[in-house]
Amino acid sequence: MKSEIIVIGDELLIGQVLDTNSKWMATELNKQGWEVTRITTISDNAEDITEAISSAFLRVDVVLMTGGLGPTSDDVTKPVLCRYFGGKMIFDNSVYEQNLRYFSARGLQMNESTRRQAEVPDVCTVIPNPVGTAPIMWFEQGTKVLVAMPGVPNEMRVAMQGEVLQRLRTHYGDHDAILHRTLMVFRNTESGLSERLTTFEAELPSFIKLAYLPIPGVVRLRLTARGNDEALLSKNLDEMVEKLRNILDDDIFCEEDTTLGGALGKILLEKGLSVATAESCTGGNIAHEITLISGSSAYFNGSVVAYSNDVKQRVLGVSEEMLAQNGAVSQPVVEAMATGVMRLANTTCAIATSGIAGPNGGTPDKPVGTVWMAVCCGDKVVSECGHFVGTRAFIIERATQRAIMMLVDLLLRCDC
Ligand code: AMP
Ligand code: MG
Repeated sequence: MKSEIIVIGDELLIGQVLDTNSKWMATELNKQGWEVTRITTISDNAEDITEAISSAFLRVDVVLMTGGLGPTSDDVTKPVLCRYFGGKMIFDNSVYEQNLRYFSARGLQMNESTRRQAEVPDVCTVIPNPVGTAPIMWFEQGTKVLVAMPGVPNEMRVAMQGEVLQRLRTHYGDHDAILHRTLMVFRNTESGLSERLTTFEAELPSFIKLAYLPIPGVVRLRLTARGNDEALLSKNLDEMVEKLRNILDDDIFCEEDTTLGGALGKILLEKGLSVATAESCTGGNIAHEITLISGSSAYFNGSVVAYSNDVKQRVLGVSEEMLAQNGAVSQPVVEAMATGVMRLANTTCAIATSGIAGPNGGTPDKPVGTVWMAVCCGDKVVSECGHFVGTRAFIIERATQRAIMMLVDLLLRCDC
């Protein structure tokens, strides 16, 4: 079944807050077979909200909305919804009492504007909000349903998982399933990959769609199947994945929709290997990326953020002569950092970086964006010089991604 998401908030439109709500909601709705056909971002403005609801209801029966439910004057969603559905505001004692408990549990006094959080349209079903004061509102109009939730991401998530998704299931009954499979592919450009998959794509059944999602150096291939027989969809997807394995072989480095850190972790686990990082310009970002994965302690031993030459020498054992002769941003130094941290942390593998993230510090020889990266596994050492163009944060991110992929590549090539 089809649904739309409307996210409300001036902060989203001026770029102050990133809309993470719709990403999370779309993922959860998809898991339950709800196709999200449109996500609309609008301001805290009565006319815009009314217009967005009317036009969404022309296309779909289910609209999920977040934002604009706060107690302050800039949040206007509640009265707009009340007018839209032809109701009047009433005071809901159970919401008020719950909010009183919420405040007293935190040692806070309720003021007039928070008291008004208990005012709700008399034409909706109120769903309690256990982690905040803005009530969640469920409106029905014929076959159509609109659910208004707070913009605060945690409050929205608790509402969705606690009651909203369950209510939608009960209200609309069984409908088609949507299943996804994602394969992470490297050593191919997006267009090169699509050429290799021309025949595969032509032979795909009509209920399975293929999407290409590139990030530099990696393409995530996503197969999406829709239909009413979930077991059959799953079997068909398995067959398509097997076909892709035959075509792409070792270029598939992960068969799960995860991060690069997650993919590296799976390979290390499968091979029974461990890793440490020695990071200069990435400042621990590679270690961060690896440790974002739960269970990474099984293969990640530690990291040295070797920003100064002194730490490179004293902790990682890079020699003074090597640093003096080549400079810190150089192949011999980054390789020595990798082998140094591998010894120090007693791992089988390591990743090291040394570069100029900018915006200052570049030279004609080594301009901003020059990053030496090295990876090693046992006695095999591979290094590469990247030339990344962009902001400091972008250069750090790109070096992080590339360095992780260098180790993935080495591990899949060698039989370590
Ligand atoms: P509101 O319900 O409009 O009072 O929203 C409260 C807070 O939630 C805002 O100040 C934002 O920081 C956050 N927020 C609102 N909408 C979103 C969204 N779509 N994604 C992420 N955060 C949001
Ligand atoms: Mg707001």
